[in-house]
Amino acid sequence: MRRGLKRKILLYKLFEEEISKRDGYICKKCGSTELVHAHNIISKFDEMPYHGFILENGIMLCKSCREKAKKNKEDYKTDNLYDLINSSKYKVLEIFSKKKKIDR
Ligand SMILES: [Zn+2]
Repeated sequence: MRRGLKRKILLYKLFEEEISKRDGYICKKCGSTELVHAHNIISKFDEMPYHGFILENGIMLCKSCREKAKKNKEDYKTDNLYDLINSSKYKVLEIFSKKKKIDR
């Protein structure tokens, strides 16, 4: 397994643990408990430190809601999802820029 991929999987595990502590294994969007997993709201992995796996960028979503979010459907856009966890794109980008400085 590639080293980068291994790190990504480890980061995702930690990410899901953190998000599930906050949200539980319940979809924050529709309340379903079917196939619920942590979803990173902005997912341009490679442009972001930690592959975007931080608490302020994550939300528990069921499979059906994750698919709608991936398709960027109305009411499932990044801003709608950030509202559900009291976060925002601005907040996330600010955290990322601070972390980048620490990493260097
Ligand atoms: Zn859902």
